[in-house]
Amino acid sequence: MSILIFLDQADGHIKKSSLEAAGYGAAIAKQTGTVAEALVLGNVQDDLTTLGKYGIAKIHTVKNEALNNVDAQVFTQIIAEAAIAIGATVIVFSNNFNGKAIAPRLSVRLKAGLVSGAIALPDTSNGFTVKKNVFSGKAFANVSINTPLKIISLNPNSFTVAITEATAEVAAFAATIAPVKIQVTATNKVIGEVPLSEAEIVVSGGRGLKGPENWGLVTDLAKLLGAATACSRPVADINWRPHHEHVGQTGLAIAPNLYFAIGISGAIQHLAGVNRSKTIVVINKDPEAPFFKVADYGIVGDAFEVMPKVIEAVKQMKHQ
Ligand SMILES: Cc1cc2nc3c(=O)[nH]c(=O)nc-3n(C[C@H](O)[C@H](O)[C@H](O)COP(=O)(O)OP(=O)(O)OC[C@H]3O[C@@H](n4cnc5c(N)ncnc54)[C@H](O)[C@@H]3O)c2cc1C
Repeated sequence: MSILIFLDQADGHIKKSSLEAAGYGAAIAKQTGTVAEALVLGNVQDDLTTLGKYGIAKIHTVKNEALNNVDAQVFTQIIAEAAIAIGATVIVFSNNFNGKAIAPRLSVRLKAGLVSGAIALPDTSNGFTVKKNVFSGKAFANVSINTPLKIISLNPNSFTVAITEATAEVAAFAATIAPVKIQVTATNKVIGEVPLSEAEIVVSGGRGLKGPENWGLVTDLAKLLGAATACSRPVADINWRPHHEHVGQTGLAIAPNLYFAIGISGAIQHLAGVNRSKTIVVINKDPEAPFFKVADYGIVGDAFEVMPKVIEAVKQMKHQ
């Protein structure tokens, strides 16, 4: 019996959100007296033995060029095969794009109950109950899974991983690889920027910044902090910023450790995508702006006066 964690990779490297899922799966293994094992598909350059420090005992790999791009149907079949082979009782994903595409398919295939978007370890004191966010983060639900095999996808940035000194055993898994039906013909990558979904710090701007010519206030601070940049939906809709930066209910949902909201009102649809951020700093000239209700720190002031001072202060801090 074991806990199987699916580890996502991009360009040959295990994603940060998957490492969090690994630590989460290892914690469930500890809690339930089982072992944490992981599955990696495609060609990975990372030294997988080091993932033992996240609590994984064994990593199963299926090295194959065809698996470098995700085909949810093919991946579902391989993960199902691995889960059966190792006798998994719980399968853990990160609730990222791939987790969202694969976990529901796997749930149907293996007749396993699924909780997507978990935010805490399961309560196993009386059954198996998992806490998750609902209504765009405005409420919680405790969902019980009653099937023998359980699937959980973990919301990124919701679990603190314990690091150990251990190393993991790595072994090839002989999987049946069905013909991949999706051919990736071209990939447009945003190069040289911190990916928004993985960023620890995000600096975000709204319509209060008046126009794209003023975005230096956002990008300068982001550069200094090694942060990703984001924006509200209208900003992307009027082409001040690219659509991949749009966060919120209809954009990307993020959960960085620190979220700067500059000239953003804090409409409910925007908050739906950012309210899982650990610390929220709001800069808005309107003291009644709804964003202040969820802010950890707020500055009531004109962004055009406040931001140069914030940027200068961060520069000073970095020189100390
Ligand atoms: C179905 C639906 C889905 C939606 N999905 C999303 C979504 O995913 N993401 C999203 O962001 N929105 C979404 N919206 C839109 C959302 O309702 C808001 O209209 C939008 O978030 C507002 O963007 P904003 O705060 O940048 O602009 P505004 O509402 O115009 O707010 C600008 C803010 O800047 C402040 N300000 C102005 N000048 C300054 C200054 N000089 N210095 C400091 N502050 C200043 C103002 O006080 C104000 O609070 C959605 C709406 C609908 C109906």
